[in-house]
Amino acid sequence: MTEKQIEKVNLLGFTLPKMEAFFISIGEKKFRGAQMIKWIHQQGITDFEQMTNLSKALREQLKQIAEVRPPRVTFEGDSVDGTRKWLVEVDGGSKVETVYIPDGDRGTLCVSSQVGCSLDCSFCSTGKQGFNKNLTAAEIIGQVFLAARSFGLPVKDSQKRLVTNVVMMGMGEPLLNFDSVIDAMSIMLEDQAYGLSKRRVTLSTSGVVPNLNKLAKVTDVALAISLHAPNDSLRNELVPINRKYPIATLFDSIRNYLSGLSENRRVTFEYTMLKGINDSDGLARELSELAKTIRCKINLIPFNPFPGTKYEVSSRNRIYAFQRILLSDGHVVTVRKTRGDDIDAACGQLAGQVADKTKRSSRYIRIEDVTECMREIPH
Ligand code: SAH
Ligand code: SF4
Repeated sequence: MTEKQIEKVNLLGFTLPKMEAFFISIGEKKFRGAQMIKWIHQQGITDFEQMTNLSKALREQLKQIAEVRPPRVTFEGDSVDGTRKWLVEVDGGSKVETVYIPDGDRGTLCVSSQVGCSLDCSFCSTGKQGFNKNLTAAEIIGQVFLAARSFGLPVKDSQKRLVTNVVMMGMGEPLLNFDSVIDAMSIMLEDQAYGLSKRRVTLSTSGVVPNLNKLAKVTDVALAISLHAPNDSLRNELVPINRKYPIATLFDSIRNYLSGLSENRRVTFEYTMLKGINDSDGLARELSELAKTIRCKINLIPFNPFPGTKYEVSSRNRIYAFQRILLSDGHVVTVRKTRGDDIDAACGQLAGQVADKTKRSSRYIRIEDVTECMREIPH
């Protein structure tokens, strides 16, 4: 068999324990695992030939059986405000987007976990596109790898660490791609790799309760919950998975998650502001009472419209009135900045063009959805 015909193992998505097990399996010492992780994630090196602390024989062997293969970037663009976006092609040809949002000394990367999503929240364009595929651990951590590398090598020794935070708030429901998301987050947290603190890695979920309970057993990263409504009848409509796991059940699961963390850690509730749907004073008061039952902060997100949606964004005044009610009850409440800088529109257009051309529009995330993800202004 020629070198080409052998299915090579992609080491990019290997956690430290998996990397160590891999080297042991080929008759090498365990410490090679940490060496390899450092080469890949701290130095940004994918070519075994450049890994100078490996013997020539080992480098040759690796070339035969393994590879370090990040997903392919098909577009990269910068905004004047420093926001950078990538359109990333994953196995099967679908594309997802990754967005980097600098904010003072913080640089947040918004990462996708699936192509599409099966949960069909009524106000979410990703949900409307249906489910296409789970990303592999390599494709998830590959987004961090590509972003970190795009700011220069070596990644770890950059004078300024540019990716300081990662949020699993791109396309997809991370808890429905559990194992790959856990592996990718483990590499984000790994000292030999990106070494991010658990407070700087956030998993956002619409509330897949059994998997949230599972998550509590294996990690303690920051948690964001897509709440969007303070009662079951409205939440059933907006976030259909609520019919299976209603608010009381979800809150028990969140409390269980928080019980494993230190006292000062809170869950973040995301609440997308939909005009005339979930933005009344009455619902703000109901949300306030609900939020008093748990350690939390609340993030109000102006709805981002997309073609075909029946929803509209609440007015600025309505959002701030809603916020004031929550603030007056002592809650910590932020409102995400609305978009409007130069490249957002350009990138949104690009995603549209690519999708039209290939007739696979259902596979593409809308750039503006992710971009809005992480910009917050505290009040
Ligand atoms: N599936 C996960 C993470 C991805 S969605 C989740 O639902 O939490 C990231 C956030 O964007 C969620 O809070 C989601 O509800 C919100 N969102 C989805 N569509 C939106 C839209 N059109 N406008 C504003 N926020 C939206
Ligand atoms: Fe999926 Fe999250 Fe969109 Fe709901 S909001 S459809 S869970 S990506």
